Amino acid sequence: MTYDPLISRGVSSMLPAPKSYWHATHKVPTLPPLNKKVNTEYLVIGGGYTGLSAAITLAQAKQDVTLLDANSLGFGCAGRNGGFILSGSGRLSLSAIEDKWGHTIATGMQAEFDGAVDLLKKRITDFDMQVDLVEGPYLKLAHNVKQAEQLYATANRLASNFNVPSTPLSSKDLATRFDINGAYGGVELEGACLHPLKLASEYARVAKELGATLFYDSPAIRIEKQKTGFLVTTPSGSVLAKHILIATNAYTPKRFHDSVDNKQFPVQSSIFVTAPLNKEQRASTGLTTPMSFMDTRMMKYYYRVLPDGRLLFGGRGAVKGKDADNTSEKKRLYRAMVKSFPSLIGIAMDYFWSGWVSVSLDSMPRIFVNSEASSNNANRSAYSIGYAMGYCGSGVSFAAFAGQRLAQRMMGASDVDLSLPIYQSPLKTYPFPKARRLALHGLYQWAKIAER
Ligand SMILES: Cc1cc2nc3c(=O)[nH]c(=O)nc-3n(C[C@H](O)[C@H](O)[C@H](O)COP(=O)(O)OP(=O)(O)OC[C@H]3O[C@@H](n4cnc5c(N)ncnc54)[C@H](O)[C@@H]3O)c2cc1C
Repeated sequence: MTYDPLISRGVSSMLPAPKSYWHATHKVPTLPPLNKKVNTEYLVIGGGYTGLSAAITLAQAKQDVTLLDANSLGFGCAGRNGGFILSGSGRLSLSAIEDKWGHTIATGMQAEFDGAVDLLKKRITDFDMQVDLVEGPYLKLAHNVKQAEQLYATANRLASNFNVPSTPLSSKDLATRFDINGAYGGVELEGACLHPLKLASEYARVAKELGATLFYDSPAIRIEKQKTGFLVTTPSGSVLAKHILIATNAYTPKRFHDSVDNKQFPVQSSIFVTAPLNKEQRASTGLTTPMSFMDTRMMKYYYRVLPDGRLLFGGRGAVKGKDADNTSEKKRLYRAMVKSFPSLIGIAMDYFWSGWVSVSLDSMPRIFVNSEASSNNANRSAYSIGYAMGYCGSGVSFAAFAGQRLAQRMMGASDVDLSLPIYQSPLKTYPFPKARRLALHGLYQWAKIAER
């Protein structure tokens, strides 16, 4: 059974772990459930990258922090993503941000996006995290001639306005290295990928070592405001907390808390992993070493060569959770792979899974704190509730950075540039929440014809 956040009132601890390649190649530690009443200063709800990173930041600042997750470690996106480390989040490029808010804000956002990648790499080094980090080229590929021109123009602008180096590749350049059907040009950037579930395990290890208390298989089912903070109830325990950090992202259940209800649209993305490519398949495709790709379609396909020589291929998933594992969904994604790599026809699909990404209405994530009451200290609130979410499918580096920023905001840190759009306002509310799925279905039908 697939969890569907637009239908379900909660993630059950009984739901099985995803059948991902990541789960097949790494066993997550078992963390205890909450079976008692607990008092804490900071309660983090959600134990993916956002929540674990917030817990790490709070623990590093010697704060009393407890974390609750509804299921096992890596149940959410942390155990389901492609493992691409990208500088950016949301759906807007730096150029689009510059067009909307001007150059100063765009460079401020660039500092946050790059800061997220730096934070990830720094933590990997500082805490000796074993996450199968691999460096290799990251190629953006144009799916038609117009998109190729657009890609080159954007790359030039990124180089001149934001100092982002990239190498343009014509369709001929691509043809000398790869046999990818329907690639009309591209740009090559530095890339890096990792094992996303190992990253979640390492974050949990570090959070615990620093003193955070972690409980898994413990869904928060109710958040009630009380005189002395918030009372959060789980099936077999409760937590009284002064501050709450909501880090449930796309897995946030229906009608969970006013601050996040109808503020994001959970959309499914699906991935399959093939059998290891044999020598001939590697030679015929050019997929010889670890590298990653993303195309320019609105419904993007993304793929990477894994360290063991398998191809991981991802794209949009089914509209509804209940259809996630339908054969038709698997076939649709497999067909897309074969269209790009005809020589791989017949290769076995060894793993297939899906996950929910959190799409915000204006394509920008948010890290926002709603203060519930002011204390005598003018700068701090006695009780506050905040959230970080809406990464639109780009969060391997940014979600952890957002978790850090959320924790910093909750602690009243002054080094966050609150003029940036991701901090200034809450997530926008979707106007016709019930029509979201209908609109998505329409968009997919349109894309089927327009983005063949
Ligand atoms: C298929 C797929 C591919 C992706 N590929 C990439 C990629 O290659 N690169 C990239 O940058 N990003 C990628 N992403 C996005 C990235 O994985 C996410 O942005 C990121 O993992 C979000 O982290 P998170 O901690 O906010 O959310 P999650 O990891 O989803 O964690 C949310 C947690 O909240 C818990 N929860 C929910 N409700 C409750 C409750 N009531 N009480 C307690 N806990 C609760 C859930 O159990 C879950 O563990 C991908 C996403 C998907 C789905």
